[in-house]
Amino acid sequence: MTKKIAIIGAGLIGTSIALRLAQKGLNVDLIDRSFSQQPASGGNAGIIAYSDIFPMISAKTLLKIPLWLADPKAMITLRPAYAFKMLPWFFQLIKSTQPSRKKGAIEARLGLMKTALNDHYEQIDKADIARFIAETGTYYLYQKEASFNFDASNRKLKADYGYEPEIVSASDAYKRINGLEQGVYKAVFEKDSAVLKSPMGLLQYLRDKARGLGVNFVEAEILAVERHVDDIKLKTKHGDDITADEIVIAAGAFSRKMTKDLGFDVPLDTERGYNVTIPNPPFEFDCAVIAKDAQIAVSSLTEGLRVGGGVEFAGIDAKPNYKRIDMMLKLAKQLFPSIPDDRGVRWMGCRPSMADDMPVIGRHPRDRRVYFAFGHAHLGMTMSAVTAKHICNLIVDGKTDVDLTRFRVDRF
Ligand SMILES: Cc1cc2nc3c(=O)[nH]c(=O)nc-3n(C[C@H](O)[C@H](O)[C@H](O)COP(=O)(O)OP(=O)(O)OC[C@H]3O[C@@H](n4cnc5c(N)ncnc54)[C@H](O)[C@@H]3O)c2cc1C
Repeated sequence: MTKKIAIIGAGLIGTSIALRLAQKGLNVDLIDRSFSQQPASGGNAGIIAYSDIFPMISAKTLLKIPLWLADPKAMITLRPAYAFKMLPWFFQLIKSTQPSRKKGAIEARLGLMKTALNDHYEQIDKADIARFIAETGTYYLYQKEASFNFDASNRKLKADYGYEPEIVSASDAYKRINGLEQGVYKAVFEKDSAVLKSPMGLLQYLRDKARGLGVNFVEAEILAVERHVDDIKLKTKHGDDITADEIVIAAGAFSRKMTKDLGFDVPLDTERGYNVTIPNPPFEFDCAVIAKDAQIAVSSLTEGLRVGGGVEFAGIDAKPNYKRIDMMLKLAKQLFPSIPDDRGVRWMGCRPSMADDMPVIGRHPRDRRVYFAFGHAHLGMTMSAVTAKHICNLIVDGKTDVDLTRFRVDRF
């Protein structure tokens, strides 16, 4: 009998793994607590940021965190009731910013990122690629001279790794980006990134492809994971156990409890992000746009104009605070004044954030039946296809062609 592999979580990462395993002829259950809701994989800003090889927080930016948290208008916030729970995560974050760790972290991310875009192309039929991906680059907009200067060392480092950014004057930025009319001090254009025109559209497309190849879709919430000698049992909310020979934990920000059941208490929390998607917007553009001072992204997607981003530390269970979107719209209108603020679909999603900003990708160190693929934080859509490729290689061939040591589940 062929072995059964259960994947928990049908976001872009779990779905991509299911698709690749099905293409190899394996017997796959893809389990999700809801196939109708929009997870982080569908609500993101759509930037395939494969040249983002640096962890988000460095020793230098660490010093900015207290300032952001103290500023009520900043797009990074910590709910007081959750502050105490976040302490161990922040402690690990501080540890991870030690300069001695930086080079290894960058090299490891580079190893993954170098094929990230191609691995997306591999998963999409040739005839459909133009519908989903455009290699049009990203503009970073700076409103303050100080923040433009603050990022100079990062730009230099990126150039050292071969991703040379172009500095663009404010007047050129206004000419190049439709709808951008004011507020720019300077812009930086990075050609080494691509735009995913519809994150939710791609997720549905990959799910349909996987279904077409025989992947069994199971709607169930997994509450606990038990390893037995003969099989692995997944305890569901509705009481029926699901059994499998091998499993992949790919439940994004919600993977911590299951990973703990498997022996590892990892520092996984969430940086919640918000957005509003405005249909029939007054303008469209074909690149990605990130407003650096405001810490928001403005994305021109198939579904409409998406304004979103920010970071809220409040855990996975707290109710959304959609007032944050009003603040985001205010900030976006400082640059794009014609954005309407009275319509659109509002959304909150949970980025799966490891304290060291490195995902967990790989096999359980002591049980060859268990795999992990979560914790991709701000770059999970970018890294979904490449993560799936390596997990699939490990399951099918027992090895893969990049060194995944830095992404091990037992690294803490
Ligand atoms: C506002 C915002 C903007 C972003 N922009 C970008 C961007 O531009 N580029 C980029 O690369 N990344 C971006 N990201 C990050 C990216 O979206 C995530 O890292 C990525 O989607 C994570 O994918 P995932 O498959 O791991 O998790 P998810 O998409 O969260 O999927 C996890 C799935 O697991 C299911 N699940 C959870 N618990 C259980 C359970 N107990 N039982 C069964 N099922 C369960 C959930 O229902 C869900 O469907 C952004 C994120 C946010 C929030």
